[in-house]
Amino acid sequence: MSQVGTLYIVSAPSGAGKSSLINALLAEKKDWQAQVSISHTTRQARVGEVDGEHYYFVSTENFKKLIAENAFFEWAEVFGNYYGTSRIAIEEALAKGVDVLLDIDWQGARQVRNMMPDAKGIFILPPSRTELEARLNKRGQDSKEIITKRMNQAQAEMSHYDEYDYLIINDDFDSASKELSAIMKARRNEQAKQAIKYQTTIKELLA
Ligand code: GDP
Ligand code: ADP
Ligand code: 5GP
Repeated sequence: MSQVGTLYIVSAPSGAGKSSLINALLAEKKDWQAQVSISHTTRQARVGEVDGEHYYFVSTENFKKLIAENAFFEWAEVFGNYYGTSRIAIEEALAKGVDVLLDIDWQGARQVRNMMPDAKGIFILPPSRTELEARLNKRGQDSKEIITKRMNQAQAEMSHYDEYDYLIINDDFDSASKELSAIMKARRNEQAKQAIKYQTTIKELLA
């Protein structure tokens, strides 16, 4: 029997670098498997975003139907749009030993923690407000109006940093990326998890 995967909740104010850090982690060569959960959202796709890859883009009507069908593990309204994590994909992956990352806001994080107390929370902060705004502009994907809305929401999101197990300051990208990877690797090396993975070896050693 292999060890089960860990569910990671990754939150940050928009523009702090969550998606970039998660993508770097997934691209990294690792001796374990990890995947990001693809959320459903009612917001418009950005240029370059692919349906089924970055998000499942759905209408508000369809989103509400999915809520009624209990299809979501958690859902929340963020920046005036609905976002939700579907249940099936996560449960299957964790059972197969794959670590699953949820890129969700603090409201979703609370719901997930209540349902899965073993989930680990990671909060990502930018080095400063000025840098956060610069990154939102640099991404070049959102209108001025949307950027202002997200900057106004940043403080509210950041005020929840103390509800998470780990905190990463995303100043130098490579350092932050190594920290994310180290957190996940350390979790896999916890005694209880290793004991399952190496049960045959341990049995032989203690025979
Ligand atoms: P970005 O994080 O700036 O790239 O912006 P997004 O539009 O991708 O995400 C907007 C907000 O919705 C962020 O706070 C996300 O963490 C949150 N979010 C994304 N997906 C989910 C989800 O499935 N559930 C919840 N609760 N929040 C989500
Ligand atoms: P989020 O998913 O949290 O909204 P993104 O990953 O889209 O944030 O990052 C926002 C912008 O900031 C992107 O243009 C990204 O390339 C850039 N960025 C991310 N991390 C850093 C960093 N450490 N230094 C400089 N720019 C960064
Ligand atoms: P964006 O619109 O920039 O892709 O995402 C904006 C915010 O929505 C981000 O902070 C992101 O973490 C959050 N978000 C994305 N998907 C979900 C989701 O499925 N559930 C929740 N609760 N938040 C989400």
